[in-house]
Amino acid sequence: MRKGNAPMKEYIDRLAARHVLTREEWIRLFEPWADGQGRVTGISCPVPETADAARYAAALACGIRDGIYGKTVYVRGLIEFTNYCKNDCYYCGIRRSNKEAARYRLTLEDILDCCENGYKLGFRTFVLQGGEDGYFTDDRLEEIIRSIKKNWPDCAVTLSVGERDMASYARLKEAGADRYLLRHETANDFHYRRLHPPELSLLNRKNCLFHLKQLGYQTGAGLMVGSPGQTVETLADDMEFLQKLDPEMVGIGPFLPHCNTPFRGEPAGSTALTLYLLSLVRIMLPSVLLPATTALATASSGGREAGILAGANVVMPNLSPENVREKYLLYDNKICTGKEAAQNLEELKASMAAIGYKVVSHRGDYKKR
Ligand code: SAM
Repeated sequence: MRKGNAPMKEYIDRLAARHVLTREEWIRLFEPWADGQGRVTGISCPVPETADAARYAAALACGIRDGIYGKTVYVRGLIEFTNYCKNDCYYCGIRRSNKEAARYRLTLEDILDCCENGYKLGFRTFVLQGGEDGYFTDDRLEEIIRSIKKNWPDCAVTLSVGERDMASYARLKEAGADRYLLRHETANDFHYRRLHPPELSLLNRKNCLFHLKQLGYQTGAGLMVGSPGQTVETLADDMEFLQKLDPEMVGIGPFLPHCNTPFRGEPAGSTALTLYLLSLVRIMLPSVLLPATTALATASSGGREAGILAGANVVMPNLSPENVREKYLLYDNKICTGKEAAQNLEELKASMAAIGYKVVSHRGDYKKR
């Protein structure tokens, strides 16, 4: 196994030139981040040569992002509207088996209040995210989407409500939804089964993503970095899958353990590897809308700024009412104060300005090249 730094840079250059790599090349780019068994779980600090290659990737990624989006950062107002979930994903704090979770649902009025508040602050995209909650039927979601679109027609609506059938996705699109976030979590079947109970399947998750694309949603896939069982091979699978899907958005954040899940004792994913992946995804999919996620900001102070400097171009502050924010706990210590609160948007703008970026107030659609 060659661990020299120059060859890694060559592969990164090749990715920038062709936007595609062979499986072996992907593995070569991830190998230095893994232990002897190829596992990336729990890895925190790369050797200096690897860190150097990551800096190289970040510089290339920023150049590509700046060339397409300029020195701008798009904001999305995140509304976590239900933490009920019928699923039991082993990593997630709102899984149905977590009896400690205090469950809540926002009403249509609550959601519209969040949007009104967000609109005044300058948000022009609202992201409705929640567990897979049967209460939110197509009828109810349609009513929510139509109400938002009626009140704020210049805003985009992004949904992140999990797996539904194609007819449902079609109805929600028809009602006005513009974008849909559905992380694939891992593109490797074996790894998928390590993270999920048997009733959930990677095939269905992938099919949902292809359906969303087919219906014309700006579609977001993505993964947690350092989730239990992740290896250089599964990361190569992820990159190959993202290449094939060609999503408009990719959500990448570190896995962070939650105390009431089976993964409570597992180590958190590496911030450095998360940043490296952000850079590689930007280089592979130049126009992609790439958030510096809340998990990244939770994992390390300054994580959000580091994400932008690795090639991300989106931040998603929380617009949920203050009294429910601490109930939407996907992992321990989730930040729900400070910059995460939309009211502190000014602080976020200042922190972005300090690294040379301007938070802009428009829908922030995907720029097709
Ligand atoms: N139910 C929807 C779905 O499945 O797409 C949206 C909500 S789900 C909680 C949103 C994302 O949170 C998941 O796709 C997962 O990647 C992330 N997530 C859940 N638990 C996490 C954890 N422990 N650490 C980091 N991210 C986590």
